[in-house]
Amino acid sequence: MSQAVCILGATGSIGQSTLKILEQHPETYTVFAVTAQSRIQELAQICQKYQPKVAVVPSSKVDELSQLLSKLGISGVEILSDEAGLIAVAEHQDVDVVMAAIVGAAGLLPTLAAVKAGKRVLLANKEALVMSGDIMMQAARDHGALLLPVDSEHNAIFQCLPQNYFDAERHGKPKLGVSQILLTASGGPFLNHSLEQLQSVTPAQACKHPNWSMGQKISVDSATLMNKGLELIEACHLFAVEEQYVTVVVHPESIIHSMVQYVDGSTLAQMGNPDMCTPIAHALAWPKRIQTHVPPLNLFEIAQLNFQAPDVEHFPALKLARQAMKSGGIAPTILNAANEIAVAAFLQQKIGFTQISQVAEHALNSVANQAADSLQTIVEADQKVRVLAQQYVVNIGS
Ligand code: NAD
Ligand code: MG
Repeated sequence: MSQAVCILGATGSIGQSTLKILEQHPETYTVFAVTAQSRIQELAQICQKYQPKVAVVPSSKVDELSQLLSKLGISGVEILSDEAGLIAVAEHQDVDVVMAAIVGAAGLLPTLAAVKAGKRVLLANKEALVMSGDIMMQAARDHGALLLPVDSEHNAIFQCLPQNYFDAERHGKPKLGVSQILLTASGGPFLNHSLEQLQSVTPAQACKHPNWSMGQKISVDSATLMNKGLELIEACHLFAVEEQYVTVVVHPESIIHSMVQYVDGSTLAQMGNPDMCTPIAHALAWPKRIQTHVPPLNLFEIAQLNFQAPDVEHFPALKLARQAMKSGGIAPTILNAANEIAVAAFLQQKIGFTQISQVAEHALNSVANQAADSLQTIVEADQKVRVLAQQYVVNIGS
């Protein structure tokens, strides 16, 4: 029986890679639903090619999609809209697998809906887990959802952990002989830049990642190392460890996607060419393996792998994220919301590159922390911080 897949964020970088893999395995997977916030023309083409049952767009774009579909002679695609539409497809009874690939906090409720409906959830949307942490992990256990990491580092860690790791108790300490998680980071396009150089980098430069081709927001996050900060928080939740058990290792080649160290002195690494199709295919098929078009590693060509410690003075976002994880409560939500506003402002050239982490720091210092005991608390904190960060951006902006 083929599995029905819902792709939240189908027009994005992860969404496109997912479709590419599904196309390679038409007997195993069918596309049930696709969603997009913009680039409706591309969504219409996706509908033409993959014939989903449902497409979800903002209500302001429903007419546009409907006209494009009829121009292409496509009937039979139901169009739903807005967050309610995203939630409806994420929890739909005919869906087996949900690819959570919306960027940012907008993905929180749809991703959580998929988890609560007990789906196999392929988690790319790290911001959703950063915000909801324990709530999402608990919901996965309560509803029997299989939450599988797509983020390449977390997928690598998942592959390097003992198979029964997730059956064992969750208590903040590594278990079953695991001693440390080594989260690798490419260092982004500005690795080894001076502080002075960092002050004048442009959005175009920040979006040009040396090893990966990704959406704009995660590209900027990779350049500030906020991406690694969010991933640190993501790892703590997924693998139930406190932040001191996660070490960030800068590895500019992005060949080792992360590692797990054991008490006997072993370090296991997962390696591969930097292509998101590998972790997506892994999460789709786990515990099986399916083919992708990613070429095997040629170690003779690579010849050398390098490692260095991250520079948290140049890239304070990583320090802020570690601190937010240590503080707990809504601190990760505050960090994430302020960062989303700051990255958008940087992309619109309203603030400079080094001001991105200043916005996050300001928000963390201005908003009182509290327990993240309900989804409502988290969503309200997110909204409040967005307003505050927006004001701060106006004050410091050029
Ligand atoms: P992207 O910007 O290329 O695509 C984002 C998708 O989400 C698009 O389909 C867009 O239409 C949709 N979207 C954007 N805002 C939305 C909103 N408000 N409501 C509903 N839909 C919305 O981003 P991406 O690079 O594919 O990243 C997606 C997620 O995966 C992010 O959370 C990112 O951190 C994570 N991720 C990406 C990569 C990568 O290589 N691109 C790697 C690891 C993790
Ligand atoms: Mg990653």
